[in-house]
Amino acid sequence: MKKCLFVISTSVAILSSATFAQTQKSLPIIDIEQQPQVAGFYQHQLGSIQITALLDGTNFMSPTLFQNISQDKVHEILKKYHADQAKGVQTSINAFLVNTGSALVLVDSGTADCFGAHLGSVLKNLKASGYKPEQVDTILLTHLHPDHVCGVSKNGVANFPNATIYVSKDEADYWLNPKQSKSIPKDKLENYFGTVKTIKAAIAPYQAKKQFKIFKLGDKIKGFEVINTSGHTPGHFSYKFKTTDQDIVFIGDIVHSHTVQFDRPETAIEYDIDPQQAVQTRLKQFSDYAKNGQTIAAPHLPFPGIGHIYSADGQSYQWIPIHFKD
Ligand SMILES: [Zn+2]
Repeated sequence: MKKCLFVISTSVAILSSATFAQTQKSLPIIDIEQQPQVAGFYQHQLGSIQITALLDGTNFMSPTLFQNISQDKVHEILKKYHADQAKGVQTSINAFLVNTGSALVLVDSGTADCFGAHLGSVLKNLKASGYKPEQVDTILLTHLHPDHVCGVSKNGVANFPNATIYVSKDEADYWLNPKQSKSIPKDKLENYFGTVKTIKAAIAPYQAKKQFKIFKLGDKIKGFEVINTSGHTPGHFSYKFKTTDQDIVFIGDIVHSHTVQFDRPETAIEYDIDPQQAVQTRLKQFSDYAKNGQTIAAPHLPFPGIGHIYSADGQSYQWIPIHFKD
């Protein structure tokens, strides 16, 4: 009996491998590096508002950008999260379009052509999602780094001609006040001036039409509350919107990695202008968001970047993305 079974299973094995070889020949191999995996927009209903996450693209960071942590520990965490390290630490660049019913608000705008062809898809994905750029009336920028501001224009022409841009006073002062350069360390000056040039080019068409405005703590813009989350940049702000029964915070760059900086939230990143303050801000916001079950939307967490923060011990955190819904 045993012998008989063995004979049958062997013949099945031979048959299936022959079938497999035939199938392989007739099917084209898809180049997943070239073909987008999913549509670059994702729509999420939250109470009375509709949020459209817009993918700008996928980026890879060097693991050496993380600070106050050994490289061995970085790799250990990445391994724990099964993060492919072949090209570096994967991160998304996302922007968010919020339809409040009375306003169409874009939170951050992606990179346009400031960083290369693998990024810069926000405008294309906004159109694909069913909206027109002319319908956007407000742009809230969490800060003025080029991966958040470049997407507002291209070659001196506004991508969102009817929108007014809002930035915090501290952020505008830091990048746009000529006196500021005196306080920048000498070794950082070249980089600073390069970034200033990029920012000025992006916002120029809005400034020319007086569609560039500055806010301060306590102001409300189209129903959005502003929250000071400085550290990553001196005038970094998050935005909170309360709907009928729920609310959401667009957190901006208080975090850049859903692996290393959730596991070890005290880890700063090279891009932070004030690393210590950036860490303090993350610890405070993460703790509050985890306690309150706050829905958040983040530009550098895996697309669509909407979800919740969980902590079992109040020390380390886990990213809980919203569940995909068709
Ligand atoms: Zn950023």
